[in-house]
Amino acid sequence: MPDDAIRCDACPVLCYIKPGRTGSCDRYGNRQGKLVRLDPHVILDRTLERGESVVPFLERSRAWDGTLASHGETFVTAIGAGTTYPDYKPAPFIISSQVEGIDVVTVITEGIFSYCGVKVKIDTDRHLGAECSRVRAKSEAIGHVTTSEYGSQMLSLGGVRHLTGGSRQEGTTTCDALLNLCNGNAVELKIDDGAKVVVQAGKAPIVDGTQEERMRVGCGSATIGMFARQWFGKVDEVVVVDDHIAGVLSEHQAGKLLGIPETGIKLKGRRSTPGRYFQVAEPGTSWGGTNIDDPLSILGKFNAKKAWPGLRLLMVSTTGEHYGYFELGEDLRPKEKDLPASLRASVMRIRENCEPALCTVLFMGGAGGSLRAGVTENPVRLTHSVRDALTRVTCGGAPVYVWPGGGITFMVDVTRMPLNAFGYVPTPALVAPIEFTLKLSDYAALGGYVENVRPLDSIVSAADGRRRIAARQGNPWPLESEARSRKK
Ligand code: SF4
Repeated sequence: MPDDAIRCDACPVLCYIKPGRTGSCDRYGNRQGKLVRLDPHVILDRTLERGESVVPFLERSRAWDGTLASHGETFVTAIGAGTTYPDYKPAPFIISSQVEGIDVVTVITEGIFSYCGVKVKIDTDRHLGAECSRVRAKSEAIGHVTTSEYGSQMLSLGGVRHLTGGSRQEGTTTCDALLNLCNGNAVELKIDDGAKVVVQAGKAPIVDGTQEERMRVGCGSATIGMFARQWFGKVDEVVVVDDHIAGVLSEHQAGKLLGIPETGIKLKGRRSTPGRYFQVAEPGTSWGGTNIDDPLSILGKFNAKKAWPGLRLLMVSTTGEHYGYFELGEDLRPKEKDLPASLRASVMRIRENCEPALCTVLFMGGAGGSLRAGVTENPVRLTHSVRDALTRVTCGGAPVYVWPGGGITFMVDVTRMPLNAFGYVPTPALVAPIEFTLKLSDYAALGGYVENVRPLDSIVSAADGRRRIAARQGNPWPLESEARSRKK
């Protein structure tokens, strides 16, 4: 190693960095012989004008104004705070502040997460791929399709097995995809024997090149239940085409209660309960998440004893995107006709009730391991403290959901965090900000590094390398909530 190189010890890679250069992750650099964290350290300010929170902190245009902190109005996040390694060292920042008369400590670190991934919710009825199918980025397997939810297809991406258990290429591709998704960038994914989908947090999914507009109003049965009264008297039969549960108005309880007579209609698939049919077609990207382009293909012959010439039939998908109006001829075969104006309103009403289709990206990580040792010499006490709600966990100031059970396994909606809050190290692993906020006395009781606690003003008055942004509207203020809950 050249004499003037310095070693970064912020992660197991232990890069040697020459002057003016950066380490492998571009997070640390050698600036005139000094190891520095290159991205600005982000501080949330509650007093700044609302709506400024979504400012990428990599844009350095807004200079620090040198203002001293107002306790309780300033929250030091872990974004840009740096990491300590190995884990027995205290976290990079352990900040004390007084909030509503209570001494509060926030332990701040950029955690290195080998055990992490993202859960992606894609609001679409279209079939993206069978459950358990592999999801690929740049041809590498980075996750799988998991169970569908109500109006959404779900992906589970990343995780330690893809990061560390496959080839080097699989690990780095997985890490890259996770990083982009968490930082709000678009990522193209291909599902084996399924669709190609572009996913971006907070944006509409693009499925096989088509931007999804809306998520379904409900399953076929729910759609019948919601709109039966609006169809009553205007049409004799309605079939709501859905890949999971197709609905038939005249057989459905809603139709029975309205006194709609039987129509002799016959649906293919498996009848579940009256008016509710499973497996009317194969999954696909057409009508109601099925593979059909011709809705009549899911109908059998009408029962001649019950059907009648002139019977009016509406077929519609669960988003109102597809619809067709038919009347039975003398031969009891449906013939397509223009949709009457009286029914057009109900189709529009289905559309109106569909919410915009979005992609949701939740980062999920486990801070139950060694990361805790940077908070306390007795790590399990931190876990207990989180479990007992004495310690609040946040990610870049955003609220998290901590899973019940062992460890500190949490999820956070990346759109509630400041942009570009995530980084990576080439082990490979994701770097995510994490803050633990608790009462100073509780911190001392759980064996915290009390000697490393420093006051808030010592941090925020040092202008260099820090960036102050407005707290995100809608997020609970981490310090206020903490102080209030401690007072109870
Ligand atoms: S990868 Fe980054 S954090 Fe790790 S040692 Fe190198 S510069 Fe430091």
